Amino acid sequence: MQELTQLLKDKFGYETFRPGQQALIEKVLAQESALGIMPTGGGKSICYQLPALVIDGLTLVVSPLISLMKDQVDALNEMGIAATFINSSLTGNQINERLQQAARGEFKLVYVAPERFETYGFQQLLKQIPVGLIAVDEAHCISQWGHDFRPSYLKLAEVITHLPQQPAVIALTATATPQVAEDILHCLQIPAQNQIKTGFERKNLAFQVVKEPKDTYLLEYLRVNRGQSGIIYASTRKEVERLFALLQSKQIKVGKYHGGMNEQARSESQEAFLFDQIEVMVATNAFGMGINKSNVRFVIHAQIPGNIESYYQEAGRAGRDGLDSDAILLFAPHDLQIQQFFIDQSELDGAYKQKEYLKLREMSQYGHTQMCLQRYILRYFGEDCPDCGKCSNCLDEREVQDITLDAQKVLSCVKRMGERFGKSLITKVLTGSKDKKVTQWQFETLSTYGLLQSWTQSDVTQLIDFLTAEGYLNPEEGQYPILKISNLGIEVLKSQRKVMRKQAAVKTLVVDDALFERLRRLRSQLAQEQNLPPYLIFSDQTLHELAEKQPQTTLEFLQIKGVGENKLKKYGELFLAELKEA
Ligand code: ADP
Repeated sequence: MQELTQLLKDKFGYETFRPGQQALIEKVLAQESALGIMPTGGGKSICYQLPALVIDGLTLVVSPLISLMKDQVDALNEMGIAATFINSSLTGNQINERLQQAARGEFKLVYVAPERFETYGFQQLLKQIPVGLIAVDEAHCISQWGHDFRPSYLKLAEVITHLPQQPAVIALTATATPQVAEDILHCLQIPAQNQIKTGFERKNLAFQVVKEPKDTYLLEYLRVNRGQSGIIYASTRKEVERLFALLQSKQIKVGKYHGGMNEQARSESQEAFLFDQIEVMVATNAFGMGINKSNVRFVIHAQIPGNIESYYQEAGRAGRDGLDSDAILLFAPHDLQIQQFFIDQSELDGAYKQKEYLKLREMSQYGHTQMCLQRYILRYFGEDCPDCGKCSNCLDEREVQDITLDAQKVLSCVKRMGERFGKSLITKVLTGSKDKKVTQWQFETLSTYGLLQSWTQSDVTQLIDFLTAEGYLNPEEGQYPILKISNLGIEVLKSQRKVMRKQAAVKTLVVDDALFERLRRLRSQLAQEQNLPPYLIFSDQTLHELAEKQPQTTLEFLQIKGVGENKLKKYGELFLAELKEA
C-alpha cells in the first residue's frame, strides 16, 4: 500500500489516489480480473499503468483509437516508462520489430487495437509472449447495449479468455448503465464482486444551460475566455462549417473536425488542437473519443445532443486535469428536430427507436429543469449528489438583480432619441460614442448621452436585447428594427414597475496570471522542440501550482502535483530557472 503510493508519487507525480484507483489496482495485483467504471477524467489509465510497473511480464492495453495510443505512449515515455503501440499506422516490418522487442521484455506496456486480435499471427504470438495483464479500455464497446458497439471487441474477449497463461484482465469504461456493465463482466469473465464503480459527479465542471441567442453568446464567451482551449460541438457537418467560418472571421484560432473531411485533414486538425496551435475546435461528435488533452477548459454544445449519455461523455472532456471548467449547452428547442430526424432516419427497429425518442425527451428536459444540472444528470444514471452550487440552475436565484435604474437609463434614451432608431445607435449614444451618426443627429447634446459610459458596447447591447425579450421595448419589423417603448416600458419609466434580471453574464474562467503565461510559453517551446503536445510535459494544473507556490529547490519542485522523478530530471532546472528569473 505504502509502496503503491510511493510509486504514484515517483512515477506520476501524484500524492494520493483518486476514488476507485487503489481498489482496482489492488485487485489486479492480486491477479484478479476487475471492471472499473469511472467518469471521463476520473483517472482510469493509472489503474493499469501503475500495475504494469509492478507485474512481471507485459501489460497489453487494448484501445480502439490510434490517436489515443500515440498520445498515451508519448505520455508514458515522458514519465520514463518503456511503452509502445502497434496499429495499422505502422508497416509490417515495424510491427514485427516491435513485437519481437515486446517478446524480449523491452516494454512494460504495449498498446494494440482490438482488430489485431482477429489476426492469426497475433493470436499465436500472444501464446508465446509473457503477458501479465490485459487492460481493455473503452470496454463498453463490447456491449451491444452500449452506444459504441464494436464487433472486434467480441473477438478480443474470446481470444483473451482462452489464453493459456490466463492473465488478469482489467476492463475500463465511463459508461454507467447496468446493462452494459453486465455485458462486460460476462464477456470478459470478470467476477461480479470485482466491479468497482466510482461516483460520476464531476466537481470541477460548471454545467450551464444557456437560452440566449447562440452566435452572440458564443462570440462573447470566446472573447472573454480568449486563449483558453475548448471544444464546440454541433450536430451536423453544415453547422460545424458555419460556426467554423464565423469564428474564423473573428480571428479566433479555430479548427474543425467532422466525418466529411478526409482522414489527413482530420488528423491534422486534431494534432493542431492537441498541440495548442488552435484554441477552439468546432466538431461533430466524430471528434473526441480518444482525445486525452487534459487542458480543455470548456465544452460548448451549440446544438442539443441526442441523449444524456452522449452529452455527459462529450461535456466530460472538459477539465480532465481537475481545474474548473465549463460544460455549456446552448439550448434552442428547435434543435430537437435535428435529433428527431436522426432517429427517424436510423434503421433501428421499432422498440429501439422508441427508446431513443425517450432518451431524447430526457435530454430536452435537461434544458428545462430547475434542478441542479449535475444532480439531474446523476439521477438519470441512478445516482445522486448534493446540489453542486455552481451550475446555472444553482446560481440562478442568487443572481437575480434589480436593474430598474439601468433600464430607466436605456428607456429614457430611447425616448429622447424619438423612438426612431435601432439598438446599435442607441448603444452608441448610451456609451457616449463619437460616431459620425451620433453627431449627425446631434445626439451628443442629449442628457442621456454617455449615461452608460463605463459599460462596454456589448454589455449595453445585451441589456437592450434583454429589455426587448422581456417586452419593455417593442421592435418594429423592418430591415433595421426600430425600438419603441411598450406600455410596460412606460410603467418602468414612471417608476411604477421594477425590472429584475437573472444575470446570465459570461464569466471569465481563469484570471490572467503573468507568471502562468511565462511558464506556459516555456512549456510551448519545450513541446515544440520535442514535437510533443504541451499538456504531456506538464498539465495546466501543474503550471498553476508552480506559479502559485513558486518552488525554489528541486525538493520543493518535486512536491508539485504532476511532477515525478523523470520530469524533474528533464525539466526541473529549466522551470526553476524561469521561476527565479520572473
Ligand atoms: P480517464 O481515462 O478516466 O478519462 P485519465 O486516465 O486520462 O482519465 O486521467 C485524467 C487526468 O487525471 C490525467 O491528466 C491524469 O494524469 C490525472 N490523474 C489520474 N490519476 C490522478 C491522481 N491520483 N491524482 C491526480 N491526478 C490524476
